[in-house]
Amino acid sequence: MSLNHGRTQLAIPGPSVIPERVLLAMHRPSPNIYEGELIEVTHSLVPDLKTVAQTKGDVAIYIANGHGAWEAALRNTIAPGEKVVVIATGRFGAGWGDLAKDMGIETIVLDFGMHSDADPQKLEEVLRADTKGEIKAVLTVQTDTASSVRNDVVALRKAIDAAGHDALYMVDCIACLGCDAFHMDEWSVDVMVAACQKGLMTPAGLGFVYFNDKAAQARNGKQPGFYFDWVPRADPEMYYQFFGGTAPTHHIYGLREALDMMVHEEGLEACWKRHETIARAYCSAVEAWGEGDGMHHNIADKTKRSNAVSTITTGPGEAAKMRKWVEENAGVTLGIGLGFGAPGSVEFVRRFRIGHMGHQNIAMTMGVIGSIDCALKALNIKHGDGALDAASKVLAAH
Ligand SMILES: *Cc1c(COP(=O)(O)O)cnc(C)c1O
Repeated sequence: MSLNHGRTQLAIPGPSVIPERVLLAMHRPSPNIYEGELIEVTHSLVPDLKTVAQTKGDVAIYIANGHGAWEAALRNTIAPGEKVVVIATGRFGAGWGDLAKDMGIETIVLDFGMHSDADPQKLEEVLRADTKGEIKAVLTVQTDTASSVRNDVVALRKAIDAAGHDALYMVDCIACLGCDAFHMDEWSVDVMVAACQKGLMTPAGLGFVYFNDKAAQARNGKQPGFYFDWVPRADPEMYYQFFGGTAPTHHIYGLREALDMMVHEEGLEACWKRHETIARAYCSAVEAWGEGDGMHHNIADKTKRSNAVSTITTGPGEAAKMRKWVEENAGVTLGIGLGFGAPGSVEFVRRFRIGHMGHQNIAMTMGVIGSIDCALKALNIKHGDGALDAASKVLAAH
């Protein structure tokens, strides 16, 4: 007999939990795509999308997942045969680099492993050595969803400037837009890619490429192809009406509702702060469980942890057993140890991830922590006490 009846909770790092309000906003017949409400709603998304990224630059909307946004960003700025630096701090920075390579772009990968953020000094050295200016862009993630590290976007910008290098600075915020603070203009980010299914709480299917004037210049002379060209897709007159094909009708309504919740009701600053507190609650629970040499957060330096996702290491094989237990008995789905060896390998099955992006509250946070606590007890896995107590203290103090 199982206790697992009632609502389930998806706690993987994307797609994230979709609010009822977003689901309901999408529950409607297909609208007229040529005139009327849909056009107005589409127009209304753009200022809010810019607010979320803290930019006055342009944003192109694609019917695509994050991989589509990755490809779009590169097609508009880098020609095959040109060179980019790829910063790898987990799985996703490297993944963007693999995609670039597949497009015929030459990549210099700076790999910082699975446990730490990028070292700006190393980036500066590589850029300084490029005396001929062959490097056209620096690609990095803000949060890597595999390692759960948060890179210092400002420090990397400073490294590019210190080297006196002209490369475009391109940042992937797919995991953490709306969760980790991000200021595109203030931080001089030239291109930013995002998608709607993580912090933005909408079903997967919309990709965003933000770009500033410098990146717009880089677009000249490139051949991104009809679908990926960001010029028409960022132009209201040409695009919002016709979308280069059928508009993603229901995603538009869903995203409208999600942005209302984040930008107009909660407020972006408050949204970032909520994510920070919830992430800290998870961290303090993990710390309590891991007293001694047990479970621990993948990123030792607390200041480098993302507010969107936590990657946790357990004893051999324990993470996989816990994931299975909470899914079958608690109705909670935790993320797999992505990027840590092949699925099923020793390193893989001793890691799990918790997605805490977007639609999250105290009940959900304590529910996941409590469910993991039950799993540890049910499976007789050695652990420290007081995880719920530690987490509730953090949440109560918000
Ligand atoms: C999820 C994610 C991606 C990939 O997005 P898809 O929509 O799955 O293609 C890329 N980068 C980061 C940082 C992500 O979290």
